[in-house]
Amino acid sequence: MRWDAQETAHADLNALSGLDLVEGLSEVTHKVRTPGFADLVYHEVLARSALNRVPEASSEFPGAYTINPYRGCSHACTYCFARGSHRYLDFDTGHDFDTQIVVKTNIVERLHHELRTSHVGRVPFVMLGSNTDPYQRCEGRYELMPGIYRELAQAGIGFSVLTKGTLIRRDLPLLAELATQVPVSVSMSIPIVDDQLRQQFEPGTPSAQARLRTVSRARDLGLDVGVFLMPILPLLTDSRSCLMHTLQTVGEAGAHHVLYQVLHLRPHVRPWFMRWLREYHPGLVDRYVELYPKGDRATSEYRRSLAGLIKPLISLYRLDGSQRGVQTAPAPRAPRLQRQRAAKTHSRSSQATEASAVPTLF
Ligand code: SF4
Repeated sequence: MRWDAQETAHADLNALSGLDLVEGLSEVTHKVRTPGFADLVYHEVLARSALNRVPEASSEFPGAYTINPYRGCSHACTYCFARGSHRYLDFDTGHDFDTQIVVKTNIVERLHHELRTSHVGRVPFVMLGSNTDPYQRCEGRYELMPGIYRELAQAGIGFSVLTKGTLIRRDLPLLAELATQVPVSVSMSIPIVDDQLRQQFEPGTPSAQARLRTVSRARDLGLDVGVFLMPILPLLTDSRSCLMHTLQTVGEAGAHHVLYQVLHLRPHVRPWFMRWLREYHPGLVDRYVELYPKGDRATSEYRRSLAGLIKPLISLYRLDGSQRGVQTAPAPRAPRLQRQRAAKTHSRSSQATEASAVPTLF
């Protein structure tokens, strides 16, 4: 495996060249195993860069950046779009993605440096958690996020953070404090409320109930807080009764807005997802093959039908953003788009489109 030749204990540091395939990583410094979690291995690396520019073509956030302190994710969601990124480390996109976690231990220092050098240019907005989850289990040990937040706020840069990890509760007071200085938006990803189903599809995540309590806590602290229903799983979480229950629960928790997205089955995700589906819901396999005949997107007929169902429900439960909180934090959009769209926000019948307003997540 390419990584075996990249330990710093290895005599020939030229062997590190394999990491050239990994944008922004320069050196593996340490490998950490976790007692009690026999499978999990943390590969501590020194990153060459912290800020990644979001490609203009792939989002509605022109000029926005992301920061990803971790690669791989112990939340282990079967549908995770980020699985493909592990191929570049010679890991597989299934179990290795869930257990071989790359930790950029110097990311705060790199960010500090980049924000003070001119080559990065103007950074209008930073999205955290748009690739892998910044509050997966190991953030409890490495505590990288508070330093990232402070660096961004000191530079006057607004940011959004998206997570399934309830560990973010540790940092909510800090986020509330920084939200008085720069735009801050918090989003919890809660696509599955049913706990049995969650354990099948997101085995490493905290329960939905714990995530909902985190939403409430963020709201209580005055933060702008949303919920991402991403992905909606066809035939599993898309019934009217399921959507109503989910939206009602999310509304009661105090979320200001909801975004949804239908499951995407990208090529590197599809085999793993279908394997899990075969194990837990074999009766749905043929239906999924019909719904995803080619490419990664569900049929347009299905997506239209779901939109017709969910958009009115999102409005019904007042989760279309019209109840956004007292905090000044905007939705996670680049400033230019915020200005362009501010006037339109309240005239829309539903702000909750299928989430083309964020990078494709699933
Ligand atoms: S979907 Fe998010 S939380 Fe789940 S494994 Fe991927 S990065 Fe982690």
